[in-house]
Amino acid sequence: MSVTVDTSIQSAAITVPNSPVLRGVQRIEQLMDEYDFPLERMKKARTKIVATVGPSCWEPSQLAVLVRAGVSVFRLNMAHAGPAEQQVHVDRIRQVSQEMNEPLAILADLAGPKFRLGELPGDSIFCKRDESFFLVRRDSTAPNELLTTYEPLIDELTVGDQVMLADGTVSMVVEEIMPDRARLRVQQQGTIRSRQGINLPGVKLSAPAISVEDHQHAIWAAKAGVDFISLSFVRSPDEVRTLKDIVRSSGSSARVIAKIEKREALERLEEIVTEADGVMVARGDLGVEIDVAEMPLAQKRIIRTCQELHKPVIIATQMLESMHESQRPTRAEATDVANAILDGADACMLSGETAIGKHPRRAVEMMNRIALATESSMIGQPLRQSSKQRADGLHAVTSAVVRGAGTMAQALQAKLVVVASHSGRTALALSQQRNFVPTIGVSTRESTLRQMCLYWGVTPLRNAPAENIEALIKHTDDWACRTGIAGKGDRIVIVGGSHLTAGKENKQMSGGVHDVVIVHEVDGLTE
Ligand code: PEP
Repeated sequence: MSVTVDTSIQSAAITVPNSPVLRGVQRIEQLMDEYDFPLERMKKARTKIVATVGPSCWEPSQLAVLVRAGVSVFRLNMAHAGPAEQQVHVDRIRQVSQEMNEPLAILADLAGPKFRLGELPGDSIFCKRDESFFLVRRDSTAPNELLTTYEPLIDELTVGDQVMLADGTVSMVVEEIMPDRARLRVQQQGTIRSRQGINLPGVKLSAPAISVEDHQHAIWAAKAGVDFISLSFVRSPDEVRTLKDIVRSSGSSARVIAKIEKREALERLEEIVTEADGVMVARGDLGVEIDVAEMPLAQKRIIRTCQELHKPVIIATQMLESMHESQRPTRAEATDVANAILDGADACMLSGETAIGKHPRRAVEMMNRIALATESSMIGQPLRQSSKQRADGLHAVTSAVVRGAGTMAQALQAKLVVVASHSGRTALALSQQRNFVPTIGVSTRESTLRQMCLYWGVTPLRNAPAENIEALIKHTDDWACRTGIAGKGDRIVIVGGSHLTAGKENKQMSGGVHDVVIVHEVDGLTE
């Protein structure tokens, strides 16, 4: 697919030629001349931006442009391309990350049990109100016969069920079931296209959450070293657990994200969020699987549940939809992004806007600007406390120490918080407080640094001695002074897991040591 996209950078220092050919050969190093990570990243919104990779942004230089504009997580949609193609994107994102010296996360989004239409004659059909169509199992070019990619679907339908097509813009009702076909009548007319998804609101389908293909894709994603793997159409916590087992047994520490897009998932929301490492509000399908009028409140409930359980939550789909074509979002879209952030979203996602849209860079810049403007109203508010202390796997001491660290950083007007996190859990707990003191995350593991890319307000920093408290204090002191973040006499709060004081260099302290919080007064540069 070829699209004309505008990924030029608007920067005082760099003028990027506006010809697609020159843009194509633009080198990442040129972009990097003016890019000073993490300082530029720390000027960006605390809310993280997830961008879907597609033809509008998949060249390395285009990916780098999006990172500069504010993206920290790239999503690979496995429904649109398999492992061979996606491996190219993984390699490119890792290359960009290396050249920018900035950790970037990759989210592999498994297709899950999404049923689709087959090929349609002429690629699209207008379905007139009250017209009859037949859902069939086998390839067909007969008029008004619609092939489904999931053969058993017809057996699972009942007369009276609703069949939603074209993102819910076309609806049909099942009127008759025959051995090899189901007769449907159009209720809401409109155009359907080849390979579009089929949604069956309220129908409890027996299709496994993880198909053979999803399983293969999950193993590929785990072995390719992606950081997050999301599962579509989750219905139960067991499905999340199964994916976690597949990921772990492939030797990966990737985090599993549950996409909430079915009524059944809303019915078991707490259990699913408890089991998952993070959640995506997948509004494209959710808005068809449930009445779209109910979706805003469902979104708020999902965000609230994630807050209570300390899980990061991504709001996805149609956030800046009109920017596929337009250089500016609608007022409603800008308000949607702002409201998601005010409600507590950790990340906002761009789908077609970056994958196939005409203005991927502008969409990211716009999302970043809306987030910055919105976050300014949240500064100075009391730190967020979990209303229920139920955070999965979070030790009571970690929880208390992190709470203390946030409060101290604010009270002491610290210039910086440094969170040293082995598994990433301490960094996530800190992120969940919504502290506005600039926060960097350090870790001995690159995979943990990459996972921090999704954590609200945490900027992951490579090459810090994250396992030794004395070395970390010295490193932070020098770094903060060199970058101008802090000067002599300023305070830095350092918080970390027990590995900080129980590491190799501090064996004598290991017995019973828990998380630590230290307030450091900056010495100034020690040349
Ligand atoms: C969605 O439904 O909103 C979503 C993000 O999933 P997909 O893009 O796989 O349909």
